[in-house]
Amino acid sequence: MAEKTHDNAVAIVTGGARGIGLEICRELLSAGMTVVAVDLRDDLLAGLPDALGSPGERLATRAMDVTDSEGFTALIDEVAEQHGRLDVLVNNAGITRDGLLMRMEDEDWEMVLKVNLTSAFIGIRAASRHMMRQRGGSIINMASFSGLEGNRGQANYSASKAGLIGLTKTTAKEFAGKNVRCNAVAPGFIQTEMTDALPQQAKDVAQGLIPMKRFGEPSDVARAVAFLASDASGYMTGQVLSVDGGMHM
Ligand code: NDP
Repeated sequence: MAEKTHDNAVAIVTGGARGIGLEICRELLSAGMTVVAVDLRDDLLAGLPDALGSPGERLATRAMDVTDSEGFTALIDEVAEQHGRLDVLVNNAGITRDGLLMRMEDEDWEMVLKVNLTSAFIGIRAASRHMMRQRGGSIINMASFSGLEGNRGQANYSASKAGLIGLTKTTAKEFAGKNVRCNAVAPGFIQTEMTDALPQQAKDVAQGLIPMKRFGEPSDVARAVAFLASDASGYMTGQVLSVDGGMHM
C-alpha cells in the first residue's frame, strides 16, 4: 500500500470512472487519501462508490469534460478551497482516434491532442498554484509506450503522449524548488475497454511484442501511480515510469 503524502491528503483523478482511472481511485483511497474522481459520464460516476466499496465522504465524483478550461480550473480551485489543500493530481483521462497518418482527419488529430495533452496542461496550471502555496504536491501524467516509441496508426495519440512527457519534465523543473513533483507513467498494453476495442489481430501482434507475453492489469498501473503520489517517491521528479511487461527498456 502507498504511503499517504499528508494526514488529510486530497487527490483529483481524471478519467476516474473506469479502466485504469478507477483502479487509481481504489489505490489512493486505500492509502488513506480523499479522492475526487472526475469523468465525462454521470451514469458511470454514479456507480463508482459501489465499485470502490462505499468509501463514504472520502470519495467525491464530478462530471466534467477536462478540456473545458474554465470548468476544469474552477473545479480544481473548488476542491482545494473546500478541503484546504490539494496534494495529488492524476491526469489520466485519455482517448484514441487511431488511423494511418496519411488518412488522419484534422478533427481526430485535434481532439486527441486536446483531451490527452491540453487537459493536463490546464490541470497542472490550476493545481500547481495550490501545491506551490502549500509547498508540496505530486502530479502524475498518464503517458504511454506509444509516446516513448511511436506506434503505427497512432500519430495523434503518440504525439499527445510524447507531449505529456515533455510537459512532465518542464513542470518538474519549474516546480522542483517548491517541493511540487511531476512524474509520468507509461503503460504498455493494459486490459481495459480502450484495448478491448482493438481488432483481435492487433491484440495478437501486441502480445507478441511484450517480453512478459501478457497484457497488464489496470491495478498494475494504479500501483505505480500510487507510489508516485506518495512520499515513498519523495525524491523523484521528472521521471517516466514504464509499466509495460518489459516492452520499453
Ligand atoms: P478508458 O477508455 O477505459 O477510460 C478513460 C476514461 O477517461 C473514461 O472513463 C473516459 O470517459 C474518460 N474521459 C475521456 N475523455 C474525457 C474528457 N474529455 N473529460 C473527462 N473524462 C474523459 O481508458 P484506459 O483506462 O485504458 O486509459 C486510461 C489512460 O491510460 C489514458 O490516458 C490512456 O491513454 C492511458 N493508457 C492506456 C493504455 C491501455 O493499454 N489501456 C496504454 C497506455 C496508456 P468515457 O467513459 O465517457 O469515455
